[in-house]
Amino acid sequence: SAVEAIKAKGELVMYTNATFPPFEYLSDTSEAVGVDVDIAQAIADELGVELKVENVDFDSIVPSIQSGKGDIGAAGMTVTPERQKEVDFSDTYATSIQYIIVPEDVEVSKVEDLAGKAIGVQTGTTGDTLIAGEINGKEDEEGNKVEGVLQGTDAEEVQYKSALEATQDLLNGRIDAVVIDKMPAESIVAKNDGLKCVELVYADGSKTEESYGICVAKGSDLTEVVNKVIKDLQDSGKIDEFMVDHSNA
Ligand code: GLN
Repeated sequence: SAVEAIKAKGELVMYTNATFPPFEYLSDTSEAVGVDVDIAQAIADELGVELKVENVDFDSIVPSIQSGKGDIGAAGMTVTPERQKEVDFSDTYATSIQYIIVPEDVEVSKVEDLAGKAIGVQTGTTGDTLIAGEINGKEDEEGNKVEGVLQGTDAEEVQYKSALEATQDLLNGRIDAVVIDKMPAESIVAKNDGLKCVELVYADGSKTEESYGICVAKGSDLTEVVNKVIKDLQDSGKIDEFMVDHSNA
């Protein structure tokens, strides 16, 4: 069993991408810290083992868990049907929506306002999938081709390893907007003068609701342990405390 193997090696290996405050980011001493690291520490404590954090590109987290290199993937990761084909997810512990970051003087209040713009995203994220779908076309629930709201507008997607790198290009004027989850977007705007962020809402008022879960290898008995710890941390108010602890990230 995965749980027995982790106890035997004395170590729980967490894969993350520490560019996503407050869930994971690098401290002043370049250590990966954040709400997800605190949750992972509680899981390691429950198992009686040390926590080891591996900081990798976001799009290599799921493959690393699938191949067994890592025990848990915790990265503000949205539970999606596509990812559920590759890995199992814990119960969800936070919710989010996508946000759009633009220069302060730019008028953007809906996705359709991104027509003709160069839009930066983090590779492999739900924001990446969403913007690619609006530019290139997407599929509805039945698998039918649907036109994207940015299709034919000369809007262009630019992929980055992190939203922080995309933000550098936004500040340089190389791109016009960045799409990323709400809390990292707010953190980026708080740290960079001249930027603002708005909820990513469609002209028809719809928006993207997402829930974060921790991923484990398919069929792993670790899911049960992770769910127990998440429930304990929620019931005791600890997750809220972790959020407060990292609110200036
Ligand atoms: N929630 C988004 C996703 O799962 C972004 C996560 C991240 O960038 N760390 O794709």
